[in-house]
Amino acid sequence: MTTLIDPHNRQLTYLRLSVTDLCNYRCSYCLPNGYQGKAKPDELTLPEIHTIAAAFAQSGTRKVRLTGGEATLRQDLPDIIAAIRAQPQIESIALTTNGHRLDKNFPIYRAAGLTKINISLDSFNPETFKKITGKDQSQAILRSIENILNTGFTSIKINTLLLREHAQETLHDALDYIRTRPIALRFIELMQTGDNSAYFQQHHQNALQLEQNLIQQGWQLQPRQPHAGPAREYSHPDYIGNIGIIAPYSKDFCNSCNRLRITAQGKMHLCLFGSVAHDLRPYLHDVGSLKNQIAQLVQQKPEHHYLHNKKVGLITNLSMTGG
Ligand code: SAM
Repeated sequence: MTTLIDPHNRQLTYLRLSVTDLCNYRCSYCLPNGYQGKAKPDELTLPEIHTIAAAFAQSGTRKVRLTGGEATLRQDLPDIIAAIRAQPQIESIALTTNGHRLDKNFPIYRAAGLTKINISLDSFNPETFKKITGKDQSQAILRSIENILNTGFTSIKINTLLLREHAQETLHDALDYIRTRPIALRFIELMQTGDNSAYFQQHHQNALQLEQNLIQQGWQLQPRQPHAGPAREYSHPDYIGNIGIIAPYSKDFCNSCNRLRITAQGKMHLCLFGSVAHDLRPYLHDVGSLKNQIAQLVQQKPEHHYLHNKKVGLITNLSMTGG
């Protein structure tokens, strides 16, 4: 079986594909003034996404995550999902979303072949949620999640940013929520980007303390699943759901990196915080030449990010590449 292996002996089986930069939220840590302007005219087209899906699938990719911006703002998202689903090697196709129009669209995405969904919900408290995201949507998102669970679909994760000021309240609400629901809720450490240094200084909280408290309360680390992302997942006999921790500032975070990223403009980032974006567009007319190009590029994948040294690479905010 073909696999992409980087010089640090990591198998790269997971592709995160951004399909638009456009976003309809104003998250205080990402796009506090909202997305400016319209969708860029040079977004990847459906045929280009087809070529990417085929080339990566044939090169060993087993999981594709669609992200953005807000991927659901693309009208042709069901066709994009179907294009990836058409690759027999791809075992799972996931979407990261803020929950926009989920009630209406989830059945359509599901029919197109979506197998997993990650929904961002930074607080269970409507006022706090609005303060963080600029939208009064938390109750609608929670209702959509309930509706999806009622269809019997359980591959749902919630992404919650760990923000110093709200951490305690959110942890309390999160535990309450997952006690009876088969959902993995993952706390993500706030990452510094080019645009958010002051915000980062004020709100970043290391996940270590939270993780130690969970362990003391009987939460147990689960073995990592094949092609899984970077979360450390914990379970507890009294809870149906799990808690995950995504801690990019933790030691060894990059050791298990299995990811490659492509922006909505077809640029490949070998690391979320790398300083080079490799333009794949000249190769998107042909699966064979794209396969050759990615096989060469992965040989340059850096061993780790330099976030600790305040080096945030090219990323001004995460709507550019997807979180
Ligand atoms: N619009 C979609 C959503 O809201 O999930 C997908 C894109 S968003 C950039 C993906 C994830 O990245 C969200 O869960 C968001 O909270 C997270 N994110 C954005 N900026 C971040 C930062 N500076 N540090 C850590 N996570 C961040």
